[in-house]
Amino acid sequence: MASLNVIREASCAEGFCSLGCIAWLYRKIRGSFFLIVGSHTCQYFMQSALSVMIFSEPRFATAIIEESDLAAKTADFAHLELDRIVGDIVREYDPTIVFLVGTCPAEIIKVDLQNIGEMLTQKYARPVMFAPVSGLEHTFTQGEDGVLQALLAISPEEAPGAPRELLLVGAVGDLVEDEILEQLAELGIPVRGVLPARDPRRLPAIGPNTVAVALQPYLSMTLNALKRRGAEVLSCRTPLGPAATRQFYETICRAFGKEPPADLATLEAEAWERIGPEREILIGKRIAVVGDNLLELPIANLLCEMGAEIVELSTPYFNRKAMAADVACLPEGLTLYEKPDVIAQAERVIALKPDLTICGLGLANPFESRGLPTKWSIEFTFTPIHGFKHAKDLAEIIARPVRRGRLMAQRGWYVDRPAAARATS
Ligand code: SF4
Repeated sequence: MASLNVIREASCAEGFCSLGCIAWLYRKIRGSFFLIVGSHTCQYFMQSALSVMIFSEPRFATAIIEESDLAAKTADFAHLELDRIVGDIVREYDPTIVFLVGTCPAEIIKVDLQNIGEMLTQKYARPVMFAPVSGLEHTFTQGEDGVLQALLAISPEEAPGAPRELLLVGAVGDLVEDEILEQLAELGIPVRGVLPARDPRRLPAIGPNTVAVALQPYLSMTLNALKRRGAEVLSCRTPLGPAATRQFYETICRAFGKEPPADLATLEAEAWERIGPEREILIGKRIAVVGDNLLELPIANLLCEMGAEIVELSTPYFNRKAMAADVACLPEGLTLYEKPDVIAQAERVIALKPDLTICGLGLANPFESRGLPTKWSIEFTFTPIHGFKHAKDLAEIIARPVRRGRLMAQRGWYVDRPAAARATS
């Protein structure tokens, strides 16, 4: 394993609230409804983050905890209020599953959403599940971890003597999921299912013959819950980029006692060939990867494999065990800042003048105004980037701002002498 120098600055997370995960999970889990039990802040955040949803059938709402609720109300009140709201949702939308989404306010005043969910599940004859998605501790992608744990709570027990099968863990677009399932079928890997399942009424059974593999690196709590149910959890690279995808499938093959076929090396070579132009742009570039969505480690690996140099690396949360396979591929002696101090990090990046900074939306404009080309890391969350077929999309997302920065520098559009100008000289 690469010797990674981890510096924990334990600063506040500077990113979107984990409620943001609803943006992709409401589409992934068909017929779901997310009832956020929170404050006006939560409501405003969701309305701005998901404003596009006004054009689609609403699949989320906010039950607002008012100040008066904090003063005098009892657990019964929360139960009655939520009962009334869930009743309205059931009558109007007939969802297959309702998530009672716990937020910071609900957590702080200790609304017992677990208990309320159990009672409402009985009453409305459908799962009403508590999903802990508070923004207190977590970054936005980790919200998915809370929702998957809620689904695990209602996933059935494996039947005795069930065959040993693979469980894919993590939400990716349907297209990407189908491609991964197709590849696994070609490799002869028996698949139990996917968590989250598209149809929440058909959740995969879990037990000692379940072999779980994560498609996303931010699901450590779900993986631990799977282990507690007896499942085996594979330590695999996140399948982002040609090399990581080949290693992902190879690890699965070996776990099922199969020798990885030579085809995988061919698929990797073809993917490298397709991203040749982007590799050319990124080769030798100095890149800062600033923590935001927990994809930082696999992205840093891909950048190194494309010939770039990582000059700064941080992440909002680091779990060495869950990320072991991704850590193992990082260059020796790299420093990783966990929960970095945002000001100190910004100053380091400005001083380093990287050719590209991958960062959250909040830091992009300050960096751009100093002539530093940036890439919003949130794009990795909403673009299909997993697997061999999407390696090109992933490489293009990363290379595009470097190309743009070069053009802007050539035209003299940067105020300061930018790193991009150096890249052209
Ligand atoms: S859950 Fe917490 S961090 Fe998220 S919007 Fe609500 S109050 Fe803010």
